[in-house]
Amino acid sequence: MNTAQDNIHQQMATLLLQWYAQNKRMLPFRTNSTPYRVWVSEIMLQQTRIAAAMDHYNRFMEQLPTVQDLADCPEEKLLKLWEGLGYYSRARNLQKAAKVMVEQYGGELPADYKALLSLPGIGEYTAGAIASISFGLPVAAVDGNVLRVFARLYDDHRDILRPDTKKAFTQRVLDCMPKDRPGDFNEALMDLGAMVCVPNGAPQCLACPLAEICQGFEKGTAIELPVKTPPKARKVQQMTVLLVQTPEGKYLLEKRPEEGLLAGLWQPLLLEGALTMEQAKQYLQSKGLEVSFSKEGASAKHIFSHIEWHMKSFCFRATDSEVNLPLVWADKTELEQEYSLPNAFKVYKRQMLKESIF
Ligand code: SF4
Repeated sequence: MNTAQDNIHQQMATLLLQWYAQNKRMLPFRTNSTPYRVWVSEIMLQQTRIAAAMDHYNRFMEQLPTVQDLADCPEEKLLKLWEGLGYYSRARNLQKAAKVMVEQYGGELPADYKALLSLPGIGEYTAGAIASISFGLPVAAVDGNVLRVFARLYDDHRDILRPDTKKAFTQRVLDCMPKDRPGDFNEALMDLGAMVCVPNGAPQCLACPLAEICQGFEKGTAIELPVKTPPKARKVQQMTVLLVQTPEGKYLLEKRPEEGLLAGLWQPLLLEGALTMEQAKQYLQSKGLEVSFSKEGASAKHIFSHIEWHMKSFCFRATDSEVNLPLVWADKTELEQEYSLPNAFKVYKRQMLKESIF
């Protein structure tokens, strides 16, 4: 590397870390940043905004303060703690990894990038974040935020979803990283990407500590960057939700299959396709359920990464409550405290938590 480039990299790190010292976000996992707390926070914040995750994070840490507690936690309790965050495989992988840590690393996170990377649910970004923040190892933690900042900083128009682009950008991060402060550097980049060089809308270049060395700012191209291949169109699936209530106010829930989308979570009865009221009644009869009253219910939409559910619903009052597993009747307290319903059904859960759906 030549000296001019060395100087720019050094300047970048100096400007960024000076800004970070003044503007660092005060987050619970930063004030008490054990490797376990950093790990759980990094997993929880994948696909979830910080503001939305903080209550969950604090509750999770209260209930499961150590790797051993996480490894020993019953699955239903774990999923309940994760309820509302989505992508439940993250919670299951946390527990799988915790079990490996108990068996192989004395209930601690290993202080080694490759060992971290080999654990369930820990990819390059998360391994890099834990290794640098918790163990001071000089490893990059490159996510969408960092790719965006570096694409703009270097006016780089390569597609950031391509592995070779990510590899090149990772090398740039390492070139800029001061080897005595890798954790601070990575966290500063995360904060800059979240607060200044933001993803949606114009970056706030006039408030940016890197403006004087940023090529995207200088050339006026920052707003167009980063370049990303557009995602494939999502498949739309019509679904019908059946909210079935007993006269005592209990609701019928079913458990989803143990594999696939929203595996092992609970839901109101859910059928593929846009059923008519008559078809829905026939379905309930096939399950041995007679209903005395029915009406159309709310519609809702839920977007997964690859699929969209467009849901309509019907509400039914059941005349008896004889059902076979895997169906259960749940009252309001059980709905709140015991059964984990994914976010896809939040409209319906809200309805069920009211006194009546009728
Ligand atoms: S100057 Fe603007 S585009 Fe460049 S890094 Fe800062 S916020 Fe991003």
